[in-house]
Amino acid sequence: MNSDIIIIGAGPGGYETALYAAKNGLSVTLFEERKAGGTCLHEGCIPTKCFCRSAEAAETIAESEGLGIRIASHEIDFGRVVERKNEVVNQLTSGIEFLLKHKLITYVPQRARLLDAHTVTTDEGVEYTAAHILIATGSTAKIPPIEGCNLPGVLTSTEMLDIDHIPERLCIVGAGVIGLEFASVFRSFGSQVTLLEYAKEILPNFDSDISKRLKQALTKRGLEFFNQAAVTSIEQTEPGLTVHYTWKNQDCSVTADKVLIAVGRSPRIEGIGLDEAGVHYTPKGIETDDSLRTNIDGVYAIGDVNGRCMLAHAASFQGRKVIDQILGRDNHINLDIIPSAVFTRPEAGMVGLTEEECKQRGIAFTAKKSLFRANGKAVSMGEPDGLCKLIANENGAIIGGHIFGAHAADLIQEVSALMARHTTVSQLKEMVHAHPTLSEVVQECAREF
Ligand code: NAD
Repeated sequence: MNSDIIIIGAGPGGYETALYAAKNGLSVTLFEERKAGGTCLHEGCIPTKCFCRSAEAAETIAESEGLGIRIASHEIDFGRVVERKNEVVNQLTSGIEFLLKHKLITYVPQRARLLDAHTVTTDEGVEYTAAHILIATGSTAKIPPIEGCNLPGVLTSTEMLDIDHIPERLCIVGAGVIGLEFASVFRSFGSQVTLLEYAKEILPNFDSDISKRLKQALTKRGLEFFNQAAVTSIEQTEPGLTVHYTWKNQDCSVTADKVLIAVGRSPRIEGIGLDEAGVHYTPKGIETDDSLRTNIDGVYAIGDVNGRCMLAHAASFQGRKVIDQILGRDNHINLDIIPSAVFTRPEAGMVGLTEEECKQRGIAFTAKKSLFRANGKAVSMGEPDGLCKLIANENGAIIGGHIFGAHAADLIQEVSALMARHTTVSQLKEMVHAHPTLSEVVQECAREF
């Protein structure tokens, strides 16, 4: 069977690209070996945000007395938390399946493997051809070579989403995005959480002001952090799972009921015929140029599998860029401006360059900050802990934005949009912002320049 485009993998990269291509008149064959929706829908963004919502409800109730609402008693029904998460995932999966019933899309619910630049085969040996092939197979959780990682109770984020009770003691290896989101959520559910992080700071890719403030806020909530901790082994002991690590030249250990391994993700490059088709890759992912082309003409790689930026929205915009190229159409998608967020409590969001990156690259910059505690809405909400930092280049154009505080994940989008339009801090000062809103924190920051 022949189509204009073959896409392998129906995550946000694959399925959104299929829909965009079909909307623009291209025929698409889309392969998926599991369910449409990918990591984002089944084991990433969406299920974790369902947990975040339940955690937020628990926190709001815990804090309600200070807001003038006395609640006699409450308990967490974790079975219902998981059930609700599954309902949301199922609802959204059905939505995607419905959208994919497009007349120009052939959805093949099977694993596909490349045979050459224009052909793939399924496990049943059926061959499909297309002028262009997009690989969008995503990523899997990385398991470090640490003894004991295969013990029952040592889990990846995928398995952690389906546990049947709240662990009393949770140890998390890795304080990156995934580790912190789970730490924040399970702390709200009442777990005692210990994080062991190899690097000097948590969230190594974030601006250090933000990661430091986030660490302080989470420590205040009772999370325990050990940075520069090297985990050496995990063993099953009588009181639980004992994680051994070295920290400040000492041998230390912590015992927990569950251990979450959150040390990054690996591109899913195995079993998809890359060697057969001669596609170049490294353990970091399929090699691509800035147009997402691989070394083989007509073959592209988008999303986590190319290792450029492991975010759902990066994958779908990379796909859009590829389809526009195939259609010979210009676009203004700037893949250097990709906002990202951590859904902890409080949240953190970032876009563009950090101060550290500016220094490394020798870019002249000015950075200014504004505080949530000076914002009427934040104080009324009882969420005064937060910070916005804007970074501008020597012409005053915004080149980075970093926010820590309530709704930072949504607030960062304004900075992202301004950057996409090369806005200066002086222009931002003159844009009317509604009062009282958290968005005034961003404008207030511009006024500091
Ligand atoms: P990450 O790279 O963000 O963090 C992994 C952390 O583990 C790092 O801080 C690293 O220093 C640490 N680490 C590595 N080896 C270690 C070891 N042996 N012991 C202790 N610490 C160790 O990776 P992640 O949190 O697993 O997330 C994977 C990907 O998924 C990321 O690219 C992330 O951006 C993406 N993601 C994004 C979101 C979001 O946007 N909200 C949410 C979840 C995941």
